[in-house]
Amino acid sequence: MFNTTLMTIPGQVDPVPVARDITPRSDGRIDLIGLPRPRIRELFAEAGLDDRQAKLRAKQVFHWLYHRGVTDFEAMTDISKTMRPWLKERFVIGRPNVVEAQHSTDGTRKWLLQTDDGHDFEMVFIPDADRGTLCISSQVGCTLNCTFCHTGTMRLVRNLTPGEIVGQVMLARDTLGEWPKGRMNDLGEEDASHYTADGRLLTNIVLMGMGEPLYNFDHVRDAMNLVMDGDGLALSKRRITLSTSGVVPAMERCGQEIGVNLAVSLHAVTKDVRDEIVPLNRKYGLEELLQACADYPGASNARRITFEYVMLKDKNDSDEDARELVRLLKQYGLPAKVNLIPFNPWPGAQYECSTPERIKAFSDIVFEGGISAPVRTPRGRDIDAACGQLKTAAQKKSRAERDREAAEAASAQP
Ligand code: SAH
Ligand code: SF4
Repeated sequence: MFNTTLMTIPGQVDPVPVARDITPRSDGRIDLIGLPRPRIRELFAEAGLDDRQAKLRAKQVFHWLYHRGVTDFEAMTDISKTMRPWLKERFVIGRPNVVEAQHSTDGTRKWLLQTDDGHDFEMVFIPDADRGTLCISSQVGCTLNCTFCHTGTMRLVRNLTPGEIVGQVMLARDTLGEWPKGRMNDLGEEDASHYTADGRLLTNIVLMGMGEPLYNFDHVRDAMNLVMDGDGLALSKRRITLSTSGVVPAMERCGQEIGVNLAVSLHAVTKDVRDEIVPLNRKYGLEELLQACADYPGASNARRITFEYVMLKDKNDSDEDARELVRLLKQYGLPAKVNLIPFNPWPGAQYECSTPERIKAFSDIVFEGGISAPVRTPRGRDIDAACGQLKTAAQKKSRAERDREAAEAASAQP
């Protein structure tokens, strides 16, 4: 049903190439998490409920799944006791498996997660005074091989399913204890006070974990629709940011069909440097990318596009680069803010982070050009949770082990 291709990637700039059906669960049951609302109704009808019942039950179940976060049909108290085993026989309520949970000294948390078919990916939670941001993954690995990014060195890639993407948000709510309590129907006043979206730790979502979200567009869109559904997780699109390295053809669709905030991994202002550090630039060049940003539906001075810029010593951090950045953003008339990201090192990386003085000088030039350019404080560096450090333990195995796994994965392709 889903495209969950697993491939070895020899340094290409294309999406995961071959579609493969997800391995069905051995017990034959269907995971409801990640399915669009009408599909749940359809499945209930296919399993034998009449139209009216299928509609009603789908509505109730959807609410329990996404608004209340229950993981057991037995907890669905407004569904009859005889109906609950019927559901349980046919369906499950999935969550990504947690392999490891780590806590940074600065409060950042990182989870190593695993799909049902055994692939590892990661999720990070970054608490701040006024917000809590969940950084979620869209793929296992990434096909794009940006030279400064640890994830880009992973050799195995598959798209995460909508259930695995929205499942990260649900798991975070489980862990943070953030599902509304109390009875669902017949809310008494006391219950109603618990039954609120306010005061939560998890307030924002960024698609900045592993993978290129616009190379897994349909699944990311379906997952975000569940996150934004008013009867579901009910997070506003203004609190969701999708980061892309510049998949130009998908950017307009992203604005139209998902409508979330856009962040663009720019990282360089000349063709030569960007071709080198973000290889996708050879396919979609700077002009094309900036034009797509100018055309991004919904961007305005109130909703600016974020341009991410990783600070690499002697590579992209000169005064001249900063001035060119301002010139380009102005030339395209972009409602922009710039996010300067100090390079986060990882074993074997060929770069160093720019000095704090250099970063400050760069930031000052952009600010003087009238564009906000804060420096992002690295978070969770001690547990390798910071930007670009995500690479799962499975991928830190020996070369021989990885090659063997890759061969097995390749032979599993149809
Ligand atoms: N694939 C998407 C989203 C994930 S990466 C993208 O590239 O936009 C999230 C951000 O972290 C991107 O801007 C990415 O370029 C940046 N990043 C990657 N490696 C990094 C590193 N080692 N240090 C700092 N930032 C890094
Ligand atoms: Fe992929 Fe983004 Fe890393 Fe580039 S920076 S390799 S696009 S995850």
